[in-house]
Formats: sequence, structure tokens, C-alpha cells
Amino acid sequence: MSEYINAVLNTVISKNPAEPEFHQAAKEVLESLEPVVERHSKYQEAKVLERITEPERVIMFRVPWIDDKGRVQVNRGFRIEFNSAIGPYKGGLRFHPSVYLGILKFLAFEQVFKNSLTTLPMGGGKGGSDFDPKGKSEMEVMRFCQSFMTELQRHIGPETDVPAGDIGVGGREIGYMFGQYKRLRNEFTGVLTGKGLGWGGSLIRPEATGYGSVYFAQEMLKTRGETLEGKVCTVSGSGNVAQYTVEKVTQFGGKCVTLSDSVGSIYDPDGIDAEKLAFVMELKNVKRGRIKEYAERFDCEYRENERPWSVPCDCAFPSATQNEINLEDAKTLLKNGCCVVSEGANMPSVPEAADLFVEQKILYGPGKAANAGGVATSGLEMSQNSMRLSWSREEVDSKLNGIMVAVHEQCMAAAEEYGQPGNYVMGANIAGFVKVADAMLDQGVV
Ligand code: NDP
Repeated sequence: MSEYINAVLNTVISKNPAEPEFHQAAKEVLESLEPVVERHSKYQEAKVLERITEPERVIMFRVPWIDDKGRVQVNRGFRIEFNSAIGPYKGGLRFHPSVYLGILKFLAFEQVFKNSLTTLPMGGGKGGSDFDPKGKSEMEVMRFCQSFMTELQRHIGPETDVPAGDIGVGGREIGYMFGQYKRLRNEFTGVLTGKGLGWGGSLIRPEATGYGSVYFAQEMLKTRGETLEGKVCTVSGSGNVAQYTVEKVTQFGGKCVTLSDSVGSIYDPDGIDAEKLAFVMELKNVKRGRIKEYAERFDCEYRENERPWSVPCDCAFPSATQNEINLEDAKTLLKNGCCVVSEGANMPSVPEAADLFVEQKILYGPGKAANAGGVATSGLEMSQNSMRLSWSREEVDSKLNGIMVAVHEQCMAAAEEYGQPGNYVMGANIAGFVKVADAMLDQGVV
């Protein structure tokens, strides 16, 4: 690592103590940018790296609400408005007990580069709360969402900052937050994406992240003259991204054999077909049950507290959470012949695992490229809201596919240009960075 990059990273670490996930994300990006900074001194002269690693604004607030027993509960809410050089802040809201500043800074930072790769005009942001929707009643979730939005509404807007869903925030939560925003501001606008179809949502938005990650895998496979047809695939998670990953892999002729949640995984060697997937969707989205019930219903193996990575596969689609593939998991995947890893989740591979995938030259699509389809389709939802019209399912899906092809091309071109063909990590970081950095230069010292 060059002296300059090292100095920037040390500043990030000392200014953001005890935020290891943010340090991890910053280190990966900064390392990739070394050859860019060497070739173009303008970025160092204008301190672009120092600026791009510092959020434009961090908002942290109290979220008080009343539970079903009439007791007061207090959570913490956040919004990180990281970079608006190329458009309004855009990025999801996460409700999970593990949420704190470091997780959201890492996610918002990644979002800046991801959004740039989508080719759409969106800046990067992320937010959420340490609220745990699990085990809460409908009314408790609604009261929490209303209280959360009562504060957040003063910081966001369709031209300023447009949040979406993430872990723990799906259509239900977006609905409650949208309702509260509308009531407080007396405005019906596209302030959130992932909305219901009857009130401003876009077709294909729920499917977009999972579909996009599969389209990206398909593009990577094309470079080696292959397709997903006949490939055995492991998928982690069983939420939004995992479900639509399974759907699209199956449509492309692949076979998904695993799913998981935070307490275990299932292994179904016969494959998760459309009927079984419908069961998972009902189980997770409506009943809000555990994936273990899949194993009971379809009589297959359930592995308590285990992730799916020991199951032999051709392609892996990590779609649960950050750092869910450790070095041992990566070695096991490679030993078993896995040749594609397409990250539906954000930063699911620890740095050593990611390094190993790059070193072994497998087709490794990092989250900021592979899962960009979600935010890209949110961008398409924003466009439809602005124009006050709705595109058909086919139209949105084809635009999503086109965007994933473009994301893939940009990664390939940047990696090639800087002498590391096929290195999607480097390609995504560089291509995402250059557009934002040049916009920052154009806009002066802001
Ligand atoms: P959901 O809440 O719908 O599903 C999350 C899934 O991951 C659940 O099965 C959950 O299990 C599991 N999970 C969550 N935390 C952990 C953990 N600490 N350990 C093990 N499993 C865990 O979220 P999404 O599907 O929307 O998000 C999944 C990933 O995709 C995240 O990394 C997110 O940032 C990323 N992503 C999502 C996008 C979107 O459009 N939704 C866009 C781009 C990226 P359990 O039910 O037990 O909690």
C-alpha cells in the first residue's frame, strides 16, 4: 500500500474508532484506487480520497415508541448522507439489533460506488435502527415506523434523500413510513422506494436485487462461454434477496439447493423448485417463521447454526449479511469446485476470503456490482414517480438487465485499463470512484 493511501486509511481509522466494518470497506476501496491515484495526481492534490471517506452528514436520533403492554421503548435511529456529488442520497434502511454507526457507514460508503456503477444519477446514503422487528406485533412495528419517520422526515425528500428497504425493512415497513411521511408533510411524493404497486411502487422492485445478482453471474459466466444451465447453486439467507435469487436461477435452468436464516440452513439436494419457493415466501414474508420449517415440510436436512458453504456447488450466492463467508468457508467452496461467487448481500466475504477468490481467478462479483440491481430499480421507481407513469413488468425487467450488463462492462473495462483483467473488485471500485470523484472535482471544494 502506498504511503498516501496508508495515511488516508489511518485517518479513517482514527476518526472513526471502533467501527471495524467501515474500516474494512474503506481499506478495500482505497487499496483498489492506488493505481488510479498514481496515474492521476489531481485526486491527491484536491484531497478527493480524504473527502470521499468522510460522510457529508451523519444524523442520529432517538426513536421512542409504546409497546403492546403500554411500556415506553427507546431505539436509536440513523441516516448517513455520505455523498451527493452525482445525485440525491439514495440507499436502504436496515432494522436489525446489530445496527450501529459503523455498519451504516460501511453500507453508505459502499452505496456511493454502487450507485455510481448503475449509470443512474444517485448519491449514496444508508440508515436504519437497532430496532428488531422479530417477535414484534403488527401494531408495534407500525408504531415504531411512525416514530422513526416523525424524526427522519425533516432530513429527507424526493430531491434530497430517498431511502429504501434493506434487512428487516420490506414492503410492510415502507408502507408505514410512507404513510407517516405523507401525513406529516402533506405531500404525496416519491420519498421512499420499494412502495406498494397501488401507491407509486415499481414492478420488479421486490425482485430486482436477487434477479440482478443472477444477471450479473450470467454475464460473468458468458466471459467463459458458459451459462447457469445445469449449475448447482448455494444461496444463503431466505429473505428478499435470497428468494428472488432462487427464482431467477431456477428460470435460467440452474438448481438452488440451500437457504438459511440467522439460526441455521437447509440442504435440499433435489432443488428448490417454484412450489417450494412459494412455501418459503409464505413462511418468511407472511408467517415470519424459521427456515427449519422448510426441512420439516419437504423432508430434507436442517443444519442448525450452520451456513450453507460446506455444500458442494458450482455457484454461490451469499444473500444474507456482511462477513458471512470466512476464509475457511472460502477454501471449502473452492475445494468443492465453486467457480462463481455473486454477492447479493453487502460485503458478505471477509477480506481474506475475497482476496482468495480474486487470487484463484474464479468469477467473483463483489456486492457493490452484483447487487446493484436493487438500487438501480429504485432509481427506475424514482423516474416513474417523477413522470407520474408506470412501466410494464417487461420494460422494467429489461432495463434492469441492461443496467446489470452495463455494470459488468464497466467493471471489466476498468480492471482491464488498470492491468488486472477479470478482477471485478478492482474494476467496480475504480469505475464507481472515477465518476463520483470527477463530479466532486467539477463542483469545487464542497
Ligand atoms: P431480509 O431482511 O429480507 O433477509 C435477510 C436474510 O438474511 C434473512 O434470512 C435473515 O435471517 C438473514 N440474516 C440477517 N442477518 C443475519 C445474520 N447476522 N446472520 C445470518 N443470517 C442473517 O433482507 P434482504 O434480503 O433485503 O437483505 C439481504 C442482504 O442483501 C443484506 O446484506 C442487504 O444489505 C443486501 N441488499 C439488499 C438489497 C435489497 O434490495 N433488499 C439491495 C442490495 C443489497 P433471519 O430471518 O433469521 O433474520
